[in-house]
Amino acid sequence: KLSVRLETVAKYVPLDSRIADIGSDHAYLPSYLAKNGRISYGIAGEVAKGPYQSAEKNVMAEGLTEVISVRMGDGLEVIQPGEADCITIAGMGGSLIASILENGKEKLASVRRLVLQPNINAIAIRQWLVDHDWELIGEEILEEDNKIYEILVAEKGDPLKPYRDVPIETGLLVGPFLLQGKEQTFKKKWFLEMKNWKRIYEQLESAAPSVETEQKKQEVVKKISLVEEVLDNEE
Ligand code: SAM
Repeated sequence: KLSVRLETVAKYVPLDSRIADIGSDHAYLPSYLAKNGRISYGIAGEVAKGPYQSAEKNVMAEGLTEVISVRMGDGLEVIQPGEADCITIAGMGGSLIASILENGKEKLASVRRLVLQPNINAIAIRQWLVDHDWELIGEEILEEDNKIYEILVAEKGDPLKPYRDVPIETGLLVGPFLLQGKEQTFKKKWFLEMKNWKRIYEQLESAAPSVETEQKKQEVVKKISLVEEVLDNEE
């Protein structure tokens, strides 16, 4: 059975898409989509040999070799131009996801939708989207097995549109849609992040003073105050 996390990613893949799932590991996501008749074609990309082999094995075992092509390579290099109209990248850090998009920019011409699920650092993705004319069109947050995940959905469009009604710095950090929804899981995530930053701040306080620690302290204070505002506005 697919995790709720990947099921939620799957939900945002348009019907009959030709998807490329990058960093597919076991190829669970494209297999699930193919088995349920949701995609017309899938590429499972993997940079590492072990995961690549397990993707191949699973696709074979499920009898999906006609629909899913398992390929080994770094990021979007496994896609030929025009092959995919939806890209999914899940279960990695946001900076890695942003760098995969950045390094494969020329492969995005035919892509109409990105469904991205960063484990941490979603801000790196939101920033990349803004810088490259992709419009965030939806976000979700969910908790599973004691971990909190965010899912970001983007299409080509007006990259600043989602940030019109929210302070951009806050929007980039916590997500403009999630900020407006303010679900319980959202509040929990930022409460925990805040606790962590406060601990980091205390560590910096007791470290030897330097320009660097001073700078780091300021960054942490900035983030704390942005998030404090988000959580306080609640009442
Ligand atoms: N997408 C699956 C999921 O969400 O359950 C698997 C996530 S797994 C934690 C991350 C996978 O991404 C690993 O199998 C890793 O080998 C792969 N990966 C990391 N960097 C990659 C890159 N630049 N290109 C392709 N795959 C990559």
